[in-house]
Amino acid sequence: MVRLYDSRKRILVTGGAGFIGSHLTDRLLEQGHEVICVDNLFTGTKRNIDHLHSHPRFEFIRHDVTLPLYVEVDEIYNLACPASPVHYQHDPVQTLKTSVHGAINVLGLAKRLKCKVLQASTSEVYGDPTMHPQREEYWGNVNPIGPRSCYDEGKRCAETLFFDYHRQHGVQVKVARIFNTYGPRVHHADGRVVSNFIVQALRGDPLTIYGEGNQTRSFCYVDDLVDGLMRLMATGPDVTGPFNLGNPGEFTIRELADKVLALTGSRSPVVRRPLPVDDPRQRKPDISQARMRLNWEPRVPLDEGLGYTIESLRDRLGELQAAAE
Ligand code: NAD
Ligand code: UDP
Ligand code: UDP
Repeated sequence: MVRLYDSRKRILVTGGAGFIGSHLTDRLLEQGHEVICVDNLFTGTKRNIDHLHSHPRFEFIRHDVTLPLYVEVDEIYNLACPASPVHYQHDPVQTLKTSVHGAINVLGLAKRLKCKVLQASTSEVYGDPTMHPQREEYWGNVNPIGPRSCYDEGKRCAETLFFDYHRQHGVQVKVARIFNTYGPRVHHADGRVVSNFIVQALRGDPLTIYGEGNQTRSFCYVDDLVDGLMRLMATGPDVTGPFNLGNPGEFTIRELADKVLALTGSRSPVVRRPLPVDDPRQRKPDISQARMRLNWEPRVPLDEGLGYTIESLRDRLGELQAAAE
């Protein structure tokens, strides 16, 4: 899109009322851009963007990305999709439609506008990985018919669509494979492990460890992740990715529980719950590609990031408590 006057861009963020999308929106506005946030508020909330309501360069459109969208923008970040297993398994068909039809619509939009489009893909494309740590060349180990496949296969299909639109129509695509990300604004009832443990610890409820707790994850603080997404978007047309974006620090779920208990000072007990079907046993990104080509690596250590997240969830629980009284 060609506009007069300035280098300011108009940027579409789908899923912009969600956890990562709202942080990305804040950063883009800070840089002086205009942001159109498109979200159907399935898992996102207006609370995440409340502070932007009177912002002159911010616009919210309530819209489902499975339907066509006609806007005029310079860049697109496609983040719309529920990300927590609890949410994406709630309506698996809608999850698939969001990934697949959503990708087709943003790609059609990018094709018409000849603009860059970035896909928020996921480490879940590697499934239960047999290569450790995971490199981008690895094709993954995904169950195509299990309860997680609506998300995993939906995201894999979206990646296929991105690369086919790139090869067939010359669309400038960028694919980020995001690993577990956490931070302030994560929904208190999101269902993912970091928010579950923190909320449980703050309420004095038992921390629910699924399985033995020796499965591993790598947790990236949201500010680091947003920085990686923006660096990827800033690359030239020959850089498509996919790029792993995540923090290579690897922790067992039991270690995470211990950290949360220590940082909150909580005396909550720990209880065991059944391990969900197809739960990946290990996950750790190899980020050498992102280091080399995006000059990116995460900076915020887990303890520090957990501290900010605990503060934010403590405030939120306080608000909920006050509203209930
Ligand atoms: P989130 O659930 O907070 O945000 C997703 C947003 O998309 C929500 O605001 C939701 O309302 C919106 N949305 C869902 N379906 C939609 C639809 N059909 N039309 C329009 N909007 C829709 O999750 P998040 O953690 O912020 O994740 C953002 C993106 O990053 C997702 O695409 C997710 O798959 C990807 N990702 C996240 C993580 C992570 O650890 N947080 C890891 C890998 C990938
Ligand atoms: N699309 C959209 N906005 C646009 C252009 C396209 O939402 O500005 C959607 C439209 O629904 C279309 C899809 O993107 O079906 C794919 O577009 P493409 O041009 O690849 O396909 P076609 O229009 O030929 O079906
Ligand atoms: N998990 C857990 N207790 C919880 C929530 C999750 O032990 O209350 C485990 C889950 O089984 C998985 C890991 O923590 O092994 C990460 O789960 P999450 O849902 O956060 O993300 P995933 O990486 O599985 O998509």
